Amino acid sequence: MSEMSPPALAPRTPTHSSTREAEPVLEIRGLNVDYGFGTEAVHAVVDCDLVLRRGQVLGLAGESGSGKSTLSMAAIRLLRSPGVITGGEVLFHPRPVEGDSSDPTIDLLRADEAELRRVRWSEISVVFQSALNALNPVITIGAQFDDLLKVHRPHLSSSERWDRGVELLEMVGMTGDRLRSYSHELSGGMRQRAMIAMALALEPQVMILDEPTTALDVVTQREILEELMGLRDRLGFAALFITHDLSLLVELADEIVVMYAGRLMERAPAASLFRAPRVPYTYGLLHCFPPMHGERKPMEGIPGSPPDLRALPSGCSFHPRCPWAMERCRKETPVLTRLDASGREAACWLHSGGATVPAELAMVDPGDRGPSAATRRVAR
Ligand code: SF4
Repeated sequence: MSEMSPPALAPRTPTHSSTREAEPVLEIRGLNVDYGFGTEAVHAVVDCDLVLRRGQVLGLAGESGSGKSTLSMAAIRLLRSPGVITGGEVLFHPRPVEGDSSDPTIDLLRADEAELRRVRWSEISVVFQSALNALNPVITIGAQFDDLLKVHRPHLSSSERWDRGVELLEMVGMTGDRLRSYSHELSGGMRQRAMIAMALALEPQVMILDEPTTALDVVTQREILEELMGLRDRLGFAALFITHDLSLLVELADEIVVMYAGRLMERAPAASLFRAPRVPYTYGLLHCFPPMHGERKPMEGIPGSPPDLRALPSGCSFHPRCPWAMERCRKETPVLTRLDASGREAACWLHSGGATVPAELAMVDPGDRGPSAATRRVAR
C-alpha cells in the first residue's frame, strides 16, 4: 500500500482529561448476539467487551452491517426479533445512594421488565438515526414530553412539565413554542434536536447515540454535534456514539473502538487511533476521506465490501480485503490483544508472533506512554 498523506481531520482534545481513569458506568462483557437459531444462526456480535466510563465519549465505528447497532440495542435489551442474546453480561453502575452501602450494579441482561423500565430513559437513553420514525406523528412534541414526564416524574404538575419541556427545547437550540408542533412540521435538524431534548429529559447518566446525525446535511450535523458535546460537558453524561463515519469520532470521542463483521478490531484513545492506527481496517477507514490540504490524490479507500455474515471468510474476516494479509490470517481468527501501556488493543496477526509490521501501521504516536509492541518490533 502506498504512503499517503494523513487525512484532514483533527482529533478532539478531551474536555474530561481524566475520563480514561474515571469509574465505569456501563460495562459490556463477552456479549454475543445471533440472528436466528441453531445451524441457521448468524453471529452478528461475537464476544465483545466495552467499558464506558463516567463523562466519557466512547466511539463505536465500522461500516454498515458490522454489528455496532446490534451490540448497543442488545445491551439495553431493545433488540428486535429474530435477534437473540446468546451470552455475556451488561453491567450498569448507577450512582451510589448516600448512606446505602449495597452494590447498586444491575446486569441489564438479567434484569426484569420493571427494573429495565426504571433504567431506560431515566438512566440510559437512546437517540436513533431517524427522529421521524422515533417521534409519534399524531401528537405534538409537547404531548410527548408530557407523557414521558408524567410517567417518570409524577410529582411534577402540568405547568411544571410544560416548563420543563420549554427548558429542554431551549437547551438544544429550539424555541419553547415548538412544543405545540407535530413532528412533520419540523425540519430534519429540529426533529433530531427534539429527540435529543427528550433523551435528556430525565438527566440520564448514559446516552446511546446511534448515528444521530447521519440523515442530516453537513452544516446541521456540525451544529447539532457541537451542541451535543456542549451539553455533555455541561451535564456530564457518558455517551456511546455509534457511526460509520470515523472522521466524526476522531473529533468527538475520547476513545474509539472499531468493529468489523461482529468483532472488535481495534481500541485506542481517539488521538492515538488517528495518528497511529495499528490495524489495516482502521487504516483503511481513516484513509477513506479526501485530504483537504496539499496535493490532490485519488482516495484509496478499502477494496471490496463488508462480508455476508451468513458466509464469513475463514480466519480473520477482513483478510479478503486486507493488503497485508498473511497465510495465518486465512486460517486463524485474531483476538483483541493489548499492545502497550496506553491501553491500546488490536486484533491483528501483524502484531503478534513476530510478523513484520508495515511502516503504515507502526507509526510512533507521541501521545503513547511508551513504544508499542509493534514499534519495538520494527525498531529492532
Ligand atoms: Fe489483515 Fe491479517 Fe491483520 Fe486481518 S489479521 S487485519 S488479514 S493482517
